[in-house]
Formats: sequence, structure tokens, C-alpha cells
Amino acid sequence: MPDPFDLDDDAPEPPRHPVAAPRPAAAAPWLNELNAEQRQAVETTEGPVLVLSGAGTGKTRVLTMRLAHILLSGRARPWNLLAVTFTNKAAREMRERVATLVGPAAEQCWLGTFHALGVRMLRRHAPLVGLESNFTILDTDDQLRLLKQIMEAERVDAKKWPAQALMGTIQRWKDRGLSPLRVGGGDAGDMAGGRAAELYHLYQDRLRTLNACDFGDLLLHCLTIFQDPSQADVLAGYQEQLRYILVDEYQDTNVAQYLWLRLLAQKHKNICCVGDDDQSIYSWRGAEVGNILRFERDFPGAAVIRLEANYRSTPAILAAAAGLIRHNEGRLGKTLRPGRQDAEAGSPIVVRGLWDGEEEARWVVEEIEAQQRAGIHLGQMAILVRAGFQTREFEERLITTGVPYKVVGGLRFYERQEIRDALAYFRVVMQPADDLAFERIVNVPKRRLGDATLQAIHVLARRQGVGLVAAARQLIQTDELKPRARAVLAGLLSDFDRWRGLVEGVPHPELAATILDESGYTGMWQQEKTPDAQGRLENLKELVAALEEFDSLAGFLEHVSLVMENDEKSDAERVSIMTLHAAKGLEFDVVFLPGWEEGVFPHQRAMAESGAKGLEEERRLAYVGVTRARRRVFVSYAANRRIYNQWQSSLPSRFVEELPAETVERLAEQGLFGGVADSAAAWAANWSSGYLTQRRREHPPEAIGPVESGTPEGGFSPGDRVFHQKFGYGRVLAVDGNKLEIGFDKAGAKKVIDSFVALA
Ligand code: ATP
Ligand code: MG
Repeated sequence: MPDPFDLDDDAPEPPRHPVAAPRPAAAAPWLNELNAEQRQAVETTEGPVLVLSGAGTGKTRVLTMRLAHILLSGRARPWNLLAVTFTNKAAREMRERVATLVGPAAEQCWLGTFHALGVRMLRRHAPLVGLESNFTILDTDDQLRLLKQIMEAERVDAKKWPAQALMGTIQRWKDRGLSPLRVGGGDAGDMAGGRAAELYHLYQDRLRTLNACDFGDLLLHCLTIFQDPSQADVLAGYQEQLRYILVDEYQDTNVAQYLWLRLLAQKHKNICCVGDDDQSIYSWRGAEVGNILRFERDFPGAAVIRLEANYRSTPAILAAAAGLIRHNEGRLGKTLRPGRQDAEAGSPIVVRGLWDGEEEARWVVEEIEAQQRAGIHLGQMAILVRAGFQTREFEERLITTGVPYKVVGGLRFYERQEIRDALAYFRVVMQPADDLAFERIVNVPKRRLGDATLQAIHVLARRQGVGLVAAARQLIQTDELKPRARAVLAGLLSDFDRWRGLVEGVPHPELAATILDESGYTGMWQQEKTPDAQGRLENLKELVAALEEFDSLAGFLEHVSLVMENDEKSDAERVSIMTLHAAKGLEFDVVFLPGWEEGVFPHQRAMAESGAKGLEEERRLAYVGVTRARRRVFVSYAANRRIYNQWQSSLPSRFVEELPAETVERLAEQGLFGGVADSAAAWAANWSSGYLTQRRREHPPEAIGPVESGTPEGGFSPGDRVFHQKFGYGRVLAVDGNKLEIGFDKAGAKKVIDSFVALA
């Protein structure tokens, strides 16, 4: 594989650029808001500058001020400036901030995310890469569908080589700035039978035919144009125009982004990147923290400025964060000292162990209300979770107590696609006349019911003024439909009847799990094998767990419809819930960090996939989390979690123990972990013996009140040969109350309810 950095741009050695000597702020009053080091970073306008420093040291503020300073001092016009932010929200904030300093001129800067800037450039030059300027940008679903079509046409075995995996490879190539011309046959090993590079080629051709591109193309196409000697004037034009380049969150840029910046900066070399290697949390999306080291090599003579004063957090929070991140090896290392003169030492970080997730949510929301009574606005508080499914329990509690909230960078739990699909299944079971729900899932997972079939159902329903389910019921008794469609539809309707028949007899969480399993819905996501699909499966599990808290499925559905109602509070009056990834660059007075349990955080999958490196990235995430807070941090963990129908006990995250004791106030109930597991030695032993995170065990009855006693033995034992109405013959693998796990001859292993099984 070629070195993606090799661009043959053998520019002559640039001169060393001196760091600007600090000068009295009076010359430029807007510099008053900065300390001496920050001023240097702002005033060293000429030449490459790297600002490398810890969280909350004012990197983003420096970038904003630098932008304003360049404009206000007349060094450049707005369109001579390009500033890259990590999110659109950050871009908006920077634009507003600059506008208060320089007025409407701010509008004319090139300011936005890599994607936004990439689109803007590409629209101007689309024909150079075979697109029209009104090209469409495909979302991930469309991308995948397209790739699947190509693989099908090329007869690549989709079972053996999931399109999803190839998509990932193509994206990584794009992240590295590699167009199809720059990848070779063997670059993806034997993926897709050794044809990955060829398929990449075909995929790009197809996109071009459709006048479309994907997100990765936005910069990749720009790179292609910039690197094309016959189009040298395009790049030269930008190089001339963009006299000053500014980049925030530099530690999370990928190779393509880096190359794009490097090409644009090649003439004036006035590029200023700010970042923090300890906050590099996107390696899974192709980010390369090595870009920091590369910068000094590619821009020799770069001024490296370190900011050490932290203006965000109390000394206690800073000490905790520093103690935590110290456990990572391979850091560039830096000092952080409290910068706020007025800062009181601050309260220690509260670490609270709780019995289970519900109690954890209750405690967090009680603390939120207490903080609110103490005068902190809801908009200044945030709950930061590791994974999306964790939001549900907090949303539930916030709704119950009437505390307004928003889920930032994602949907509220009950608005997510997989949750809506699952709810649609439940709704059709409870209410067959619910046409909207039926329509939503009739072909999800794909049942290959074509348009003609659906059309026929609709037509009949309209003609007779009945619901879709009723219409479908009639249709399957006729010859109107093709035999296959008829059989599929009949199967689905009888599934619904069967599930409906269970509503009275089977505990509703179990019924829900059965519906999702037997309908093939869970299986659909299991086959996807992407991080995205993993998240959806976690959400589905969480949904089933949520049902436990309600008396019936009907009661639950009613609850959801009430929950979905929107209130009309402004953002300032809402608590934010978001993932740690989405919280990068933000700050709040009070931050809650729940779910600090081994397996949840550090996340089991991240560690399984990337070992020690994965653990370090998880630790950086923890560091990002702690350093979002100005005044208070509340860390919590639960001793027990309900996963599907099972209680599992968990161990506190190792990160809890890594917070220096003197910065922490621990509030754990006695005996949560049986006294034994609650020690660092025990965790370490568990880990080194490969014993992962969660031991299954019975929930101690005295602690949570009545435990559903297992239903009496249903008369099946492992090894029995049985017959199931839907899946046919098989052998019982395991018995769990009235649930059986059966290895079916044709359908493979399934969980089923014993009432549908007969001894064969
Ligand atoms: P992160 O690494 O989390 O992105 P950062 O280095 O970008 O942090 P900023 O968000 O720019 O830090 O600044 C952190 C906080 O400190 C902000 O509220 C900012 O307004 C404030 N701040 C920065 N510099 C100063 C200063 N010289 N005087 C007072 N407050 C400051
Ligand atoms: Mg920042």
C-alpha cells in the first residue's frame, strides 16, 4: 500500500517563524481576555503554530480570538480565513462569538466542520471529478444499499462477506485519503474474496453515475482535484486565498483531513492547530493522534505553544482528571494548573455506588433537583453516558419527576428507529387495527412482500373501509396474491395471533422478547455486525428491561405515548443527556457520570477489539467526561443491572479506583459487593484470569422485594426431541422457566415459549 502521506510535494525548507513577543494588551483591547501564553498563540499569526494543551485551557477561545484578531488587525479579509470545528454546533458558537467581536464580517469566513467545508468546495468543482454541482450526499443506509447491490451483481457471497464490513474498509480507505487508484488488490487481505479494491472501484463508479457521493468523498474528491497536476490552478487559487487556517480538536483529525489541510496551507503556511492528545477519542473512526507529531515534521519551525492554566474546572476536578489520565502510557504529557483566581478549591468528586440502575437514576435526578435549588440552571447540568442505551433509565426518571431534558446529538430513547419498530410490533399485537404500526413493520425485517402485495392490501382496506390487518386476513384466503406472498403474509398474521394469545398467560417482558425474536427483528440487527447495530441491539435489550417496570404491555404503551409528548421548554431550561463522545469541547457547571462499571465503562467491546489501546482510549473518554465540569462531578455505578430478564451483578469501573483518593468522596452502601469484590485486588484478579465483567447470579430477594419465582418445570429437559409450530423439529438445549432454548433442525438455535412446543 502506498504511503498516504507521500504527495511528492518537496517544498523548500521554510524559515523558522519566531513566536510573537507578548505586547501590552492595550494595543488590541480584545486581547485583554487572554493570559500571556494565550496571547502568544493569538498573536503569532504568521507561520505554523501548534497549541498543545490540556482540557479547559482555552484552546477554543484562542482560536476564536485569533480569528477575530486577524480580522480586526487588518491582516486579512473574512474570506481569507478558514476555520475548522468538530461539530456544526461548535461552528455556530464560534461564528456567534466572532460576530460579537467583528460584526457581520464573520459570516464570510470559511468556517465549519470538515464535511461542511468539503461540500462547499466540492460543489464549485464537481465536474472535475465527474459530478454535477448539485450532487446528492448519500446517508449511511443508502451507501450500504448501493454496495449490497454491487456485491450482488458481482456475485460476492454476502453471507461470507457482509457488505457492512466492506463498507467499513472503504470508509477507512477514504479516511486515509486513498482513492480507488491508490489501493491495490491485496490491500484488504482476502476480504470479499480478495476483490475489495475492485469493488471499491465499482462503488465509486456507481456513485458517479448517480451523481452522488458519500461523506468520505467530500474531502477525498477535493484531494483528488488538488493532487491533479492538470488542475493545479484550483489548488493554487485556494492556497492564495486562504491565508490563515485554524483547526480545533486537532487530535481527532484523520489522514485525509490532515492532507487536505496540509495542501491548503502549503503556500502561506499560516496554519494554527489546537488539540490535546489526552482527548483523542475517535481512533475507531480513523482519527490519527500521530497527526500531532507529523505536524512538527511537515511544518518545520512550527511554534509549539503550551497552555497550562485551566479556566474551566475547580482544582479538585483538575486533580482528579490528572490522576486518572496518568494511568495511560504513551502520552505527550503536560501540566495543568488551576487558572481561575476566584476558584475555591472545590468540592471533591462524589462517587456513589447504588443498588441498581433504577436507584442510580433516582439518585442522579435527586441531585439534579438539589443543584437546581442551589441556583444552578438545568441547562448547566449534563448526564454523560458511555453508550446510547443508557439514556433510557434517566429519561424515564426525568419524565416522572417533570424535569425537562434533551438528548444531545441523538434521539430520545423512544424516538429511535429500532425502538419505534419494536413498539410497532407491540402495538399491532395489542391493537390489530393500528394501521400505522402494521405498515411500519410489515416488511421489517425484509419479508420480500413486494409493492404489489402491499398495494393489494391497501386497496382492499380502502374499498371495504377496514383496517390493513383485516384486509390482509381476507386476502390470504383468496388467490389474489402470489402463493409466496400469501404464505408469508399468512405466516405473519398467524404470528400476531399467536403472540396475542400469549398476552394473558406470559409475563409481558418475556412476551416482548419472544415477539422480537420470533419475528426475526432481533436477528435482523444481529446480522448487521456493525457498531451501529450493536447499539441498536443494546437499546432493544434495554426496552425489554424497561417493561419490567410496568404492569402490562398496554400500560407500557400508554406510558410511551405520554412520554413522547413534547414540552416547550427552551434549551437553557433542560438538562442535557449525551454520550461522552458528543460532549467533547463542551462544558457544564455540574456533570453526572453514571454507569462506571466494568464492561459498561470501560466498554467491554472496545477492550475486546483493541486490547490495551482500547482501554487507553476508554480512559481518555473518562478524562473528557471529568473535564467537562466547572464545579461538580458526580460519578456513580450500580451493583446490579437487569439485562433482559436476568439480573447481573457488576463491578465498579477500574476508573473509579484510579481517581486519586484525596479528590474523591465515596458514598457506597455497605455490602453492595459482598465485601470481597469491592477491592482493587479482586478486580485485578478477575481481569487477569480473563473473567470479564459480569457474573450472572440470582438477585438477592431481600433487597428488591418479591422475585418472580420460576414457573414450575414445564416437563421438558435438555436433550428432549420436540416439535414447535413455527420452527419445526429440534432438540431442547436448555430450560429456563417456561422458556426453552431449542436447536432446531432447520431454523437453528431459538428461544421459544414452552406452550408452543410438544414432545415429538
Ligand atoms: P477543551 O479541551 O475541553 O476543548 P479548551 O482548551 O478548548 O477545552 P475553552 O473551552 O476554550 O478550553 O475554555 C475553557 C473555559 O475557560 C471557557 O469557559 C473559557 O471561556 C474560559 N477561559 C479560557 N481562557 C480564559 C482566560 N484567559 N480567562 C478567563 N477565562 C478563560
Ligand atoms: Mg475546545
